[in-house]
Amino acid sequence: MTNSLTILGCAANRQISGLDNNVTSGYLLKVGERLVLFDCGGGVTGAFLRYGFDFTKVSEIFISHTHPDHVTDLPLFVQSIYLTKRKDRLGLYLPEDFTEPFDRYMRALYMFPETFPFEFTVEGYHGAITHEGEGYTIRTIPNSHLSRFVERVDKFGGDNKLLCHSFLIEVAAGQSSTGPTKAFYSADLASFEEIRPYLDGCAYVLVDSTHVDADRILDYMKDADIGTMIFTHLGDENEIARLREKIARSGLDRVLLAEPGMTLEL
Ligand SMILES: [Zn+2]
Repeated sequence: MTNSLTILGCAANRQISGLDNNVTSGYLLKVGERLVLFDCGGGVTGAFLRYGFDFTKVSEIFISHTHPDHVTDLPLFVQSIYLTKRKDRLGLYLPEDFTEPFDRYMRALYMFPETFPFEFTVEGYHGAITHEGEGYTIRTIPNSHLSRFVERVDKFGGDNKLLCHSFLIEVAAGQSSTGPTKAFYSADLASFEEIRPYLDGCAYVLVDSTHVDADRILDYMKDADIGTMIFTHLGDENEIARLREKIARSGLDRVLLAEPGMTLEL
């Protein structure tokens, strides 16, 4: 398999997870030899090793937003890369309000990017950007998952700008396929409607299950131009059981529940 998307972790929270493996958000794109990580929640570094991936092959990391289940393993993941003594550039894409706090956090952890044996570029992003990789394109799609925090941020926050993004991934045609393959990772959402305009023609859509109306998505999937919809960001045992039952009742075999270690061929 040349190109793939692997679910390293898909629990919404490590403590309440109804999964045997309670690793939180982490999704790994593999295009040829290159790896691109989307989100780096608790347990992702261990899962990356457990599934046999190589830290020297990671070229970019994208963080959707700064909730703990999407970002807490990031310093450990970066440390694991720099301990390999790799030489290739590593690009880290963070919501722009997090670049400065993350830089200070790294230094407090005695990790000084100036001493890394490779070029480490941290880019703050905000809104819709397009990143061209080798053989793939990544588009960020802003969403309003964090808008419900507006009052709390006003009252108690720092420089939080309520930034959260989904990702549209396009992989150039491989040797066996006829055209580019598209996949979508929603990260966390406020509503499914925000991402719906971007989903047509996607082979896989990984959608947050805890902030959306599952019935609405199942209804939409009846005649959507989407290969397979996969519910991610899974909650406790009861929530998973309810979701499983809804999928079964829909009779749709193009809707699945995410599982840690699941690998989707692109
Ligand atoms: Zn979140």
